[in-house]
Amino acid sequence: MTVFFIGAGPGDPDLITVKGARLVEQCPVVLYTGSLVPKEVVARAREDALVLSSEDMDLDQIVAVCRDAHGEGKDVARVQTGDLSIYSSLAETTRRLDEEGIDWKVVPGVSSFQASAAALGQELTLPEECQTIILSRASGRTPVPEKENLKSLAEHEATLCLFLSASLIRKVARELKEVYPGDWPIAVVEKASHPEQRILRGTLDTIVEQVEEAGIKATAMIIVSKVLGQTDFRDSRLYAAEFTHGFRKARVAASRCGAGHE
Ligand code: SAH
Repeated sequence: MTVFFIGAGPGDPDLITVKGARLVEQCPVVLYTGSLVPKEVVARAREDALVLSSEDMDLDQIVAVCRDAHGEGKDVARVQTGDLSIYSSLAETTRRLDEEGIDWKVVPGVSSFQASAAALGQELTLPEECQTIILSRASGRTPVPEKENLKSLAEHEATLCLFLSASLIRKVARELKEVYPGDWPIAVVEKASHPEQRILRGTLDTIVEQVEEAGIKATAMIIVSKVLGQTDFRDSRLYAAEFTHGFRKARVAASRCGAGHE
């Protein structure tokens, strides 16, 4: 018996992996994050499956569902939004399952930061301009360690993807403006990949008003980066003809030199 933690993807039921979908179809117990995972994602469960929403459950109750299934030798599909590696409570749950001697595995999913980038049609890294993506959140009721404060993250000028921060947009814009000019690009994607997806593009000076006017408070990704909408950058070497050529030459040269000289 195994508890499978499955990344359900950002919302569109087609954005779960084939592996995740198969497990949802097969597991006799399906426990999904009702608040964020649309019903269509778990609609593929077997007819006789026990399908439960964890919306009103605390950690003890979630562990109890797993314990009961374990007692009956039934696999559990624990379906959660996006990918399990980011703000998912995976660690606190698996720590408890380990204490109970219950086996578990993780199946990755498409994260909402990826779905938001896709909605924007935006590569988050650009050759020679930006080669790093920082995934973080603004500190609100949930504290963020002081060393990870937004200002210090912004100083890298990497692409910033902020989860769980839409309701803190005023604070986010204020803190970022301590590092960036007011015309620095920012986008907010609400409900990426859902039918009701909304996209706001603006600058640090305009975004607070845009978000408040749109009434966006949750299920939104904030992306802050000089790469947004930028067209003035060099082609990457990935598809550059002379690079491929040079690489072949280099390999010939290396093999002539013999091992150890590459
Ligand atoms: N593990 C999830 C994140 C869970 S935290 C993942 O990998 O995506 C919940 C936060 O994720 C929300 O506050 C919001 O910032 C973001 N989020 C989740 N679904 C989203 C979506 N469809 N569009 C935009 N942001 C989303």
